[in-house]
Amino acid sequence: MNKIMVEYIWIDGHIPTAKLRSKTKVVDNKVSSPSDLPDWSFDGSSTMQAEGSFSDCLLKPVHIMKDPLRGGNNLLAMCEVFNSDGSVHKSNKRAQLRELAEKHKNQECWFGIEQEYTFFDGIKPLGWPDNGFPAPQGGYYCGVGSDEVFGREIVEEHMEACLDAGMNLSGINAEVMPGQWEFQIGPLGPLEVSDEVWLARWLLYRIGEDYGVSATLDPKPVKGDWNGAGAHTNFSTKSMREPGGIKIIEDACKKLGKNHDKHIDMYGADNEYRLTGDHETCSIKDFKYGVSDRGASIRIPMQTANDGYGYLEDRRPSANMDPYLVCTALMDTILS
Ligand code: ADP
Ligand code: MN
Ligand code: MN
Ligand code: MN
Repeated sequence: MNKIMVEYIWIDGHIPTAKLRSKTKVVDNKVSSPSDLPDWSFDGSSTMQAEGSFSDCLLKPVHIMKDPLRGGNNLLAMCEVFNSDGSVHKSNKRAQLRELAEKHKNQECWFGIEQEYTFFDGIKPLGWPDNGFPAPQGGYYCGVGSDEVFGREIVEEHMEACLDAGMNLSGINAEVMPGQWEFQIGPLGPLEVSDEVWLARWLLYRIGEDYGVSATLDPKPVKGDWNGAGAHTNFSTKSMREPGGIKIIEDACKKLGKNHDKHIDMYGADNEYRLTGDHETCSIKDFKYGVSDRGASIRIPMQTANDGYGYLEDRRPSANMDPYLVCTALMDTILS
């Protein structure tokens, strides 16, 4: 084929939680880097990114991956959004992370993001009875069997798609609430992990279309005694990963404690319904860090404490967080 289909994917201006948008451009089959792709425009008045009278916004491809659904040489292209005069659009949170990543590249930051989400079948979580509730939580986490696990075929298809695209997906698991799942991306640098999380979300929604199932990133999709959905963000620098790194990790935890409110502001909307202090969370009003403590804001994994080096896990980001913002906040607080 001398033409390929490229899915231009971008993040809209929806507040407080942005949504993914995409459209397809057919181009000549000779693309090996994002800069080989033309800029494109879209109607920003339909995406909460412009007023109707002056509505063109620019799409600039910044990260390409194989399109695992269309196959062949077809591509997915993550884009940044610019105003028609070429300046950074205010919805474009990647631009500031790009600068921060460049500034701190000698630190060799790694991120691993655990994306939790919940499948919905119409108005109820997938697998839930039409009336009432399933059996209480207890057997679902990493469960097996058609009475415990709902949506595995979609999860398997999504995992294969992410790997075929070339993503650094490191695993999946069924979560504590029935119909809830997790995939992990990383470890990768800040821009790479964020782009891949957004593209993996896009693939999840897109594959869900084929099953008539939607995936939501709502941090508390069911009120009451049901786990919420987060996006634990694991972080390390080169010096944290070397012997003696635990000292640098502890210093980072102290800095994070002094900037708790700044982080919460950048960690996703409606997080207060999730960070209650129950269901393996620390209250949104408190900050604590500790070894192997799943009720802390920041967990230092047991292995890291034992080895004396490794990484930290920020358990506060909600499932609907923007990874560009979370990575920016972590690098800004810890490296400044
Ligand atoms: P949990 O035990 O909290 O469920 P997971 O296994 O789901 O942890 O996710 C841990 C994530 O952390 C993975 O994406 C993994 O790749 C990532 N990770 C591992 N080592 C590091 C590191 N040194 N720095 C940053 N992230 C890391
Ligand atoms: Mn996990
Ligand atoms: Mn989890
Ligand atoms: Mn975790």
